[in-house]
Amino acid sequence: MKNIYKNSPKNLNKAKKLLRKNNIIVVPTETVYGLAGNAYSNSSIKKIYKLKKRPKINPLIIHYSNIESLKKDAHIDEKFIKLYKKFSPGPLTYILRKRKNSKISPLANANLKTIAVRFPKNKIIRTLLKKLKFPLAIPSANISSAISPVSCNDVLDEFGKKIKFVLDGGSAKIGLESTVINLYGKTQILRPGLITKNQISQVLNKKIKIQKKTDKIISPGLLKRHYSPGIPVKLNCKTKEDKAAFIVFGKKYKNNNKDIFNLSKSGDLEEAARKLYKTFRKIKNLGFKTINVVKIPNKKIGIAINDRLRKAAN
Ligand code: AMP
Ligand code: MG
Repeated sequence: MKNIYKNSPKNLNKAKKLLRKNNIIVVPTETVYGLAGNAYSNSSIKKIYKLKKRPKINPLIIHYSNIESLKKDAHIDEKFIKLYKKFSPGPLTYILRKRKNSKISPLANANLKTIAVRFPKNKIIRTLLKKLKFPLAIPSANISSAISPVSCNDVLDEFGKKIKFVLDGGSAKIGLESTVINLYGKTQILRPGLITKNQISQVLNKKIKIQKKTDKIISPGLLKRHYSPGIPVKLNCKTKEDKAAFIVFGKKYKNNNKDIFNLSKSGDLEEAARKLYKTFRKIKNLGFKTINVVKIPNKKIGIAINDRLRKAAN
């Protein structure tokens, strides 16, 4: 496909030029593929919201290559430093207080006092960030509320010819969005991910909780979030309904019928996370009208899988 570009110095330079002119491109990250734009530019941010059909009240995550460049845009504290040392670069997003003189477009953080920031680990996006004089706003490269893309083909499935430049990074290593932790006000997890609340609690030496539905909404995008394959999803199924696609997990399900999709035959939750969105997309494109899902163990990254499944089933 001619809008997919392999990782090479020439193509990274091309990406840099496009971003400097406030164009939007697609980039790989270790979590999912993202739509990237200059976070300092109002016009770039407007283009991102328009492409994704994302509600303007749902702020974007700003991506940096290092802590020095972040300091111009956000206030950092001891908790942040501790977590940063342990988990960044990687799939952890921090909510921090935005500096008054920050150049981040207010459209990117829905005019809030805070910004969400992340230091991605994927080599391609890191190399690109290091070449730029501005951070990148990068939400997932899908239409708002749909399934996140984990490969270049998924991006094309979402946007078709609307996207002119996709940097190819192969399949996303993790396949689920980052853990989001609030560090402004009550320290709590707003979205579970690969990095768990136990790991975070250990580093902060304090019991950290996952935000409950009943708590005050500080992450405007989270409640409406769907991760939806566009067809009904039914959870905790013991057996399969007639004509439904059945998503299963573990050794118990050896059956290779074409309506059974095993997220991990060996019962590996990280493999299941990697395959979840790919499986949703496959089932949708095969034309199934409903999805049944077995119970997935609610531990480690299984907590994040169950979070996305619940939202998909909503
Ligand atoms: P994504 O669409 O995967 O990039 O998700 C970004 C998530 O971070 C969404 O759920 C947003 O609501 C959340 N988020 C971004 N910025 C903020 C912020 N300043 N405060 C709270 N949540 C935020
Ligand atoms: Mg998203």
